[in-house]
Amino acid sequence: MSQPTALVTGSSRGIGRTMAIYLAQSGFKVAVNYYNKADEAQNLEQAREVLAAIENAGNSGIIIGADVSNPGEATELVEKTVAGLGSIDVLVNNAGIIKDQLLLRMSDSQWHDVIETNLSSAFYCSKAALKYMIKRKYGRIINISSVVGLGGNIAQANYAASKAGLLGLTYSIAKEYGPRGITANAVAPGFIESDMTNKLSAENRAKMLEQIPVGKLGKPEDVANLVAFLASPAASYINGQVIRVDGGMSI
Ligand code: NAP
Repeated sequence: MSQPTALVTGSSRGIGRTMAIYLAQSGFKVAVNYYNKADEAQNLEQAREVLAAIENAGNSGIIIGADVSNPGEATELVEKTVAGLGSIDVLVNNAGIIKDQLLLRMSDSQWHDVIETNLSSAFYCSKAALKYMIKRKYGRIINISSVVGLGGNIAQANYAASKAGLLGLTYSIAKEYGPRGITANAVAPGFIESDMTNKLSAENRAKMLEQIPVGKLGKPEDVANLVAFLASPAASYINGQVIRVDGGMSI
């Protein structure tokens, strides 16, 4: 079999960055996607650093700029992955944003931006990737959801709905394309050390820790380890599952 390939959306920083590096360490050629915002040269720089880490791990990769909330750019991202790596065996739908607000104060744009970036992007990328995966009768789609998608959260109706929507998408792909050799699973992280959680006040952080039986926040590596496993041949009989990485928070 030729060397396996993976695309991780939103992988220039945060958990996506760690996933891209872990997949490379597990033997994948990796496409690193950065958000090519008009005013943001920093993202390209960060993506270059991720590529350097992939090469340090003894593997190869490519970097591709794309706004995955844009259907045309998301489709092109998958096409460029196939053109650059030769195939797409694994797609990790990781790119995500928050725009928190109590529901009565939430604007239509706060709702739509989060749904488009977190949920529609996964539909666009999965649709484009499935076309190639079906031809090879092999594929793995891993959607990064959240415990918030399972239980909801105050001031996060948009985020919770997007992350719950990812579960419905996961189950449907698992049923529709399981017979074609393609599996789909979702990962639901709890609180993970990241730019997102670093913004929390000391008080909110302490409150959060009280809810976590293991008494600490997770690390990007905790999520990346599971993703690397789900992407591996050892996980071939796991399909349509939601796996929580939350230190027992949602027991
Ligand atoms: P992060 O540090 O904010 O990173 C998110 C990444 O997604 C960034 O690289 C960001 O690019 C990229 N992105 C955002 N919009 C994009 C777009 N339209 N097109 C392409 N890329 C885009 O977040 P994180 O903590 O690593 O989270 C990664 C995933 O895990 C998200 O889906 C998040 O919802 C989920 N999650 C996180 C936690 C947690 O505690 N951190 C918990 C549960 C679930 P920029 O650099 O331009 O912003």
